[in-house]
Amino acid sequence: MLCTTTREGNECAFMSKNGCTFSGGTCNPAIEACLGCERLVTAGDMQYCSSYPDPAAKWRYGVCNFATHVKGTSKEEAKINPLKASRRAHRR
Ligand code: SF4
Repeated sequence: MLCTTTREGNECAFMSKNGCTFSGGTCNPAIEACLGCERLVTAGDMQYCSSYPDPAAKWRYGVCNFATHVKGTSKEEAKINPLKASRRAHRR
């Protein structure tokens, strides 16, 4: 549903007919680690994440798994089994 509050006009999974359902009724601004990420959107003079309402939480335990600007976070790279990749490399 389209946001009608903090990120007005942006698609958001937390928006409902009754308003923002995220904690506190608004998403939180992006943090410094998000700079360069393609998921950043600007609303007013602040930047927010288009995929997750609390960017700081996404970085709390390591690299954000949605980040587009940090290597090793895409699903394709994560799916590679290092043992199988090694066997494949030896076969060539
Ligand atoms: S996807 Fe992760 S790194 Fe990118 S803006 Fe959102 S929280 Fe920040």
